[in-house]
Amino acid sequence: MKKKWGEPRSRQDVEVQIPESYLAKDYETQERRKLSFLLQESAFSEHIPIFCIIDIDLLPAEEKALFDGYGITPHAAILLGQTIAEPFLFAEQAAPGNRGDRISSCAELITLGYLMGFREKIEFQGYQTALIPPSPLPDTKLSRMLAASRKGVVGRSQRFLAGEYGAWHTIGLLLTDAPLMGGDYRYPDITVDLCDGCRACLDACPCGAITDDGYDEKRCHEYRNNPDNQEQASTHTVMKCMRCMTACDKKRIKELLK
Ligand code: SF4
Ligand code: SF4
Repeated sequence: MKKKWGEPRSRQDVEVQIPESYLAKDYETQERRKLSFLLQESAFSEHIPIFCIIDIDLLPAEEKALFDGYGITPHAAILLGQTIAEPFLFAEQAAPGNRGDRISSCAELITLGYLMGFREKIEFQGYQTALIPPSPLPDTKLSRMLAASRKGVVGRSQRFLAGEYGAWHTIGLLLTDAPLMGGDYRYPDITVDLCDGCRACLDACPCGAITDDGYDEKRCHEYRNNPDNQEQASTHTVMKCMRCMTACDKKRIKELLK
């Protein structure tokens, strides 16, 4: 079984996790297979590092409910994202726009670009979509939705730990009513708890926004948005606290995956 995104696939990788219902030979199933395959190949050819489809219809009721309330009745969710090697990509820039200035980081914009490109591909086929942007911060609900892919777990930091990349990524979701098949057979499902409770993220948080009881969004925002707690990287660019991401050691997570 391959362990890394981007490694060549073998026939065994492809066959290992396919649900029985995907193997039917009828026209409808063939069409599902074709569209899912085209999207996956598109992610390969565009060198998108993180891609996976969640078949929402196959999820247990509790997880399925996480995808309600986004304006469509989704059958699938597509994870698209970027791995982050350098926290500076989370530096926030003031980006003047026609809806007023807003703040965004390169890391989020890269992933938003992936999501918007795929939204166009899917809507062109006549299906509806709803876009859930990535978050640079702990986000319990988004992390639980991403964990429904079985390619990672929700860490104590309330961040999604995405396989060997741990918390070092920016991933968004595209919900769609297209009947896509789930999975990304390039990678095995994660069956170990990648968060071993080392507590490095809890200890690193300077304002106690992450505790054993969860994440206090208000406290985190107040700390990060206080200019005294920011680093001015250039005239229009500031670095805000990302300690709960940088404290989560990717090397240790890789060891757990071995
Ligand atoms: S203040 Fe910093 S370390 Fe604490 S939760 Fe927010 S981003 Fe993470
Ligand atoms: S820093 Fe440790 S406790 Fe926090 S999410 Fe990462 S592995 Fe889990």
